[in-house]
Parts: sequence; structure tokens; C-alpha cells
Amino acid sequence: MQFHYLPHLSYHSYICIMSFFKTGKPFIIAGPCSAETREQVLLTASQLAPLGINMFRAGVWKPRTRPGSFEGNGEQALQWLQETKQLYNLKFTIEVAEPEHIELALKYGADALWIGARTTVNPFHVQRLADTLKGTGIPVMVKNPVNPDVDLWVGAIERFEAAGLTEVAAIHRGFSGYSSAVGYRNQPNWPIPIELKRRRPELTIVCDPSHISGKRNRIAEVAQKALDMHFDGLMIETHPSPDDAWTDAKQQITPAQLSEILKKLIVRDEFTNDMDTQVQLEYIRQLMDAVDAEIIDLIAKRMELSEKVGEVKKQANMTAYQPSRWREIVETTSERCDVSGLDKDFIVDLYEKIHHESIKRQLYILGNAQIEIKK
Ligand code: PEP
Ligand code: MN
Repeated sequence: MQFHYLPHLSYHSYICIMSFFKTGKPFIIAGPCSAETREQVLLTASQLAPLGINMFRAGVWKPRTRPGSFEGNGEQALQWLQETKQLYNLKFTIEVAEPEHIELALKYGADALWIGARTTVNPFHVQRLADTLKGTGIPVMVKNPVNPDVDLWVGAIERFEAAGLTEVAAIHRGFSGYSSAVGYRNQPNWPIPIELKRRRPELTIVCDPSHISGKRNRIAEVAQKALDMHFDGLMIETHPSPDDAWTDAKQQITPAQLSEILKKLIVRDEFTNDMDTQVQLEYIRQLMDAVDAEIIDLIAKRMELSEKVGEVKKQANMTAYQPSRWREIVETTSERCDVSGLDKDFIVDLYEKIHHESIKRQLYILGNAQIEIKK
């Protein structure tokens, strides 16, 4: 399907799709990882309110990896947040993980709730929260599960929607892995939120660069990337003196640093009204479409050759999969990358798929009738 000429939304339809999260500009949520003391909550809010953020965040019950660490101030912290809301006219959101958390959050006037990454992984638990939220109409943001599973993420979102909630959004906070060698606390795995967006284009997706980065010097870069990927908003952990924070100290930034980041962020549009740009894009895309048609024809030809190879292997009683041949393909395609300037990992990934399909066809020819060849 081609979207090149999707007309710009008229002002009227734009107004109609406005919702809690769709404000027409990036939705900014900021505040400390944890509500530590009344003074810390009020001070952070007093510094954030002038920045015009959309919502204040603070952890009231903290899901800590190991026991014995600070687990949040609970109901008392909700009182501070209620006070903050009244003093600074600042909407607030907290993480809920138990039905009792929801009851208290509603009692103290929370404007939105979020479901933490460690809760999203458990469908029984998510369902219990969704059942508790029935009829409340409160906006809910669902963080991705800690494991890179887009279905589990979508499934949790669907459970809240099925409970009748209409303001459901997603938060991308990265995925845990054994090593943080590549420099992130949680791997962004961008193809996963992109897949979520592909499946649910209308869904609001907020990026949480703080939990992805794990350290403050990468927050700006991840935030910009998220906006360039068409995310709708950002959730950034902010503390008046980050080094003294009781939780997630390394990744928190001051409200002044947040202000600098927000000033420098480039907000791009999905579409443009500029005719010149539209014509240029359409021209390049026509060339691209022609190349794509050639690529498909070439893949089809390659599969025909694979089937011929399969016939020969069958006559000679040879295996479909020959590891030495796969190594040869990796080598020759990688060498071509050196010449053509393509990324080797990308090409090897692509060829893994092509080779897999080729082997599947050969197995079928060798007599594995149960293999399904989709044509
Ligand atoms: C948090 O936002 O402070 C938090 C605990 O997040 P996550 O569920 O992403 O770990
Ligand atoms: Mn945190």
C-alpha cells in the first residue's frame, strides 16, 4: 500500500483525533524515578512546571530487582503528589502493579497510570489490573515487557482496551539483556516498537530514554532518535540533585538539563505540504518501487535455481543443507559488501532468510512433504 499522497489532515479531523496523549506536539512526562520526600517532590515539580511539561511522574511503589532496597513511600507519596498537582496545576502519573495501587491512585487523583516492564510480562497480573480498571476511564500507559516480545506487549495493551479503556498508550523503555556492553542499560531494539507502530498505527507511543540509556549522557541522543522514529512523546527521569537520588541515580537529570534537551530536540513532521519536496520524494520512490520489483524477480529466479539444485541433490543422495556452502555464501556476500558499502551484518541477516527459504524448498524436493511451501 502506498501512503505517499495521504492528504494532510484537515483542522477539523485533527481536532477530532485529539486525545489525552495526542496534543499535536511531543507529550512530555518528567519527574523523579521515586518520590523520596515531600520536599524533593515539591522542589522537582516547582522546577519542572515552568517548562510546560504535560505530566509529572514519580514512582510510589518501586519494583526493585533485589530485596532490601528502597521500595517507595506508598500512600504517603500519593499525598505529596496530590499536593503538587494542586500547587503547580500539574497532572501526575504513577506506576501501579497491584489492584490496591490502582484504588489508592484514583483516591489521590492520579491523572494517568503506567504499567511497569516487570508487570507487563505477566498476563494473569495484567488481566487483574485491567479488571480493576474497568469503568474508570483513566489513561493507562503500558511499558514494554522486559523481554523483547512484541506480542506480549500488544497483548497487555489489548487487555486494557478490552476492559473498556480508550486512552491506552505504550511506553518503550528498552529490553533487558545479559550484557550492557553496547552501552545501554536496556537494549532499545528499535524494530520492536516499530513493529508495534506498524500493527497499531493509531497507538500513542512514548519513549523512555532514561531506562534505555541508564546514564544521563545518552538521554538526548535516544530522545532525538525516538522523535525521528515518529514517537509521540518522552518520559524522562528528572531529579533536583540526581547524584543523590535514592533510585536510578546515574540516569536522572536536573530539570535545567531537561530544559536544555527539550530546547535542542528537533521535532519533525510525517508529511509536508511543500510541493517541491512531495515531487522529489515521489520521483525517488518511483525509482525505488522499480528496484523493489527487480529484487522480487531476482529472488524468484534464485528460488527456481534452488529448486534445480534440490533435484540434483536428490539424484545424488546429498543433504539439502551443506554447512560449507553456507559459509561460502557468507564469505562471498560479505566481500561484495566491502565493494558496495553495505553493512555486512545486514546482508548476512538477509541472506540467512534467503538461504533458509532455499533449504526449505530443497527439503520439500528431497521428499519432506510435510514442509509447507507458500506460493
Ligand atoms: C520506572 O519508570 O522507574 C521503572 C521502574 O520503570 P521500568 O518498569 O521500565 O523498569
Ligand atoms: Mn527509574
